[in-house]
Amino acid sequence: MTSEKELDPVATIVDGQPAHGGADHRIAVLNPSTGARIAELTESSAEQVDAAVAAAKRAAKDWARSSPRARAEALFAVADLMTANLAEFARLECLDAGKPYTTALEVEVPAILDGLRYFAGAARSTSAPAAGEYVAGNTTMVRREPVGVVAAITPWNFPLLQAVWKIAPALVTGNTVVVKPAENAPLSTTRFVELANQVLPHGVLNIVQGRGPTVGERLVLHPDVSLVSFTGSTRAGKRIAELAASGPKRLVLELGGNAPAIVFDDADLDKAIPILATAVLFNAGQECMSGNRVLVAESLYSTVAERLSAAMASWKLGDAAAADTRLGPLISAAQRDRVAEIVANRSQRTELIIGGAQTDSEGFFYEPTLIGRVAQSDQLVQEEVFGPVGTIQTFATEEEALRLANDTPYGLAASVWTRDVGRALRFVRDLEFANVWVNNHMALGPEVPQGGFGASGYGKEGGQDGLAEFTQLKQVVVSLG
Ligand code: NAD
Repeated sequence: MTSEKELDPVATIVDGQPAHGGADHRIAVLNPSTGARIAELTESSAEQVDAAVAAAKRAAKDWARSSPRARAEALFAVADLMTANLAEFARLECLDAGKPYTTALEVEVPAILDGLRYFAGAARSTSAPAAGEYVAGNTTMVRREPVGVVAAITPWNFPLLQAVWKIAPALVTGNTVVVKPAENAPLSTTRFVELANQVLPHGVLNIVQGRGPTVGERLVLHPDVSLVSFTGSTRAGKRIAELAASGPKRLVLELGGNAPAIVFDDADLDKAIPILATAVLFNAGQECMSGNRVLVAESLYSTVAERLSAAMASWKLGDAAAADTRLGPLISAAQRDRVAEIVANRSQRTELIIGGAQTDSEGFFYEPTLIGRVAQSDQLVQEEVFGPVGTIQTFATEEEALRLANDTPYGLAASVWTRDVGRALRFVRDLEFANVWVNNHMALGPEVPQGGFGASGYGKEGGQDGLAEFTQLKQVVVSLG
């Protein structure tokens, strides 16, 4: 294992201050490119989780009574601090989440900042029915109020993006937050909370550290948490939904996906191939909207297999810190081994077009992999693989393409590739997914709500619908007599 200089221990931050002590459990944070330990995380104790919720609750009243403008300005100030530390955030995302540094610096962190600025401003105008005399002799008005203390629980694949997409809309709508990042990729979110506390009133944003079943569940079960915003696996989402039912408390669940990309024989392949390669390989395939299930018209099978594999093979695989790396490691040895096992267990009838092996390295790398002739019932098709692995299936008719696309438990994202406008719109109507692209994949902005159907969860993030998740409506009826 390569030796690297260790960072400071990962902090629990309560009421604007690093909390001391913690539970007995320690977690080594690893650099997935090298396997080296880069920091230690002491799991927050139950008392620290409770103290974080208590601090958020104390801060909630004043924060809720501040004006949307004041909250927006506070978040713009946080965005300015983030901008001044952009390279540091890219480096932290690279260090523990294995993000290729150049992509983090040029694409991901700027996109996070854009989201932060969008959310900061977006809560200054809200909507509800206009005040009026809906009941004769009374004026009725509707107030949109914060829900109180929000628990934000985030995954390791987009650590800071997921955290900011929860923290920013929750704060601008007047809530206070306790965030729990994934235990193996906590660095960027912890730094964000440190910086934000230079601007925000203490207690408004707190962070606790540790594993889901211990720290996460304590947060979900805490009676003073009013809403849990969770992004992660469908398995953990179901568990959280069970626990939250005892409140009951409100939930937003952004869960797994397994997106199809349906390519018809009239598609513009020059445009499609590089985008599909990105759809399979971006973030080493650890992306809930990853277009890993490529469905092609039978006549295109050989052409797409050849061209897509060539495009995927051109992605430079290596240490995420290297400037020319496009394909970094998987998050952990366990994740790499899971991907390797699913690929190894594929049926004999499938065709391995490229890849299919881990690299000989101390980091957690897996080769870009494309597998053809898979069947609908294969694990590679039915489960979210979460690695740099794409599959190709063929279809003979529109009906078959639609049936194959819709036939998994997930409903997060899909794309359809055709020059036929009528066919594109029939698929837009009939695909059972919350994000549908025509002749594109994974083009997204914070202005528009996203969030899955089916096993991909419920609730929205982004846009006014995403902001509304963090509010509750109060009807006020005033007698005119
Ligand atoms: P995970 O479910 O293992 O963990 C996610 C977070 O939940 C972590 O912070 C973890 O500690 C916590 N957690 C786990 N079990 C918990 C429990 N019982 N109670 C409370 N908290 C718990 O997911 P992961 O492996 O970190 O992330 C990958 C998953 O996230 C994939 O399935 C991916 O598709 C999904 N994801 C979805 C979206 C979306 O927008 N729909 C976006 C990104 C990632």
